[in-house]
Amino acid sequence: MRGSFLKILSDFDGVLTNLTEEAERARQLFDAYLFEIAGEEISRQCIAAAQEKIRQSPHLNGWRSRGRVTAFADEDGFIYVNGLAACLDDQAREPGLAADLLTQLRKIGLDQFSHLAGRAYAAMVRETESGRMKPMDEGAGRVLKELIHRGHSIVVVSNSGTDRIRKILADSDVGEELRKQNGSIRIRGDARKFELGEAAETLLVENYTIPVDRPVYRNIILEERPDVVIGDVLSLDLALPIHLGGATRIFLRRRDYTPSWSLNFMEKRQKGAPGGILEQFDDLLALA
Ligand SMILES: [Mg+2]
Repeated sequence: MRGSFLKILSDFDGVLTNLTEEAERARQLFDAYLFEIAGEEISRQCIAAAQEKIRQSPHLNGWRSRGRVTAFADEDGFIYVNGLAACLDDQAREPGLAADLLTQLRKIGLDQFSHLAGRAYAAMVRETESGRMKPMDEGAGRVLKELIHRGHSIVVVSNSGTDRIRKILADSDVGEELRKQNGSIRIRGDARKFELGEAAETLLVENYTIPVDRPVYRNIILEERPDVVIGDVLSLDLALPIHLGGATRIFLRRRDYTPSWSLNFMEKRQKGAPGGILEQFDDLLALA
């Protein structure tokens, strides 16, 4: 801790924004592309089968890095789309409808369903940039501004691109602070928190085995040495700082999509470790 001033490392999507509309749009675009490329009926059948598989085993499905699940399909809406694509990629390894769909995708240069998910995500980001969606959470900019006013510093660390984050924050109450040279808020986008290393270390939460060897995110945490870490996704944002331990206060921002296994874990943890569950972003003002 630097005197009583805190360095707060916050995730972006789902913490400073409400990602529901953007995630729904990414999903809509993913489906629409697939319908267009491979036909609606067969696509719907494949998607339904993949969704059922995810529903039965969310702990085995999600966003993959090096073939391992790095974030789970039930943790947020963006991860769900990645999980759906990864599940279709699995199914396409055996002869069947998914393999037939993949053949259609390959004809237009897409080697995996995951690449189609990437294309849908990129299109959604462009739509947000064009002003079609306003994901910034009401009040989050005001809270950031107040924290800075009190002498704390903010580092936004996110898998989203720095440009995307900057454009969205620029329209909020913290926009002016962001435009200052050496201001008290910085953005570290493209943080690749999802990227896994070789080590087998994990954090086991119920039947979810969360890999904690995240070399890019680890370097950021070791460089920044934050007093507070906030995220809305246990696997991507919090599992590594929890694993690293120390006095860092770690908060899970609760959302309507937050899975019960994440909440249960954080509730138990907060009895013996600094941090807990953040019901609202405003609650930070009572802590700092
Ligand atoms: Mg997030």
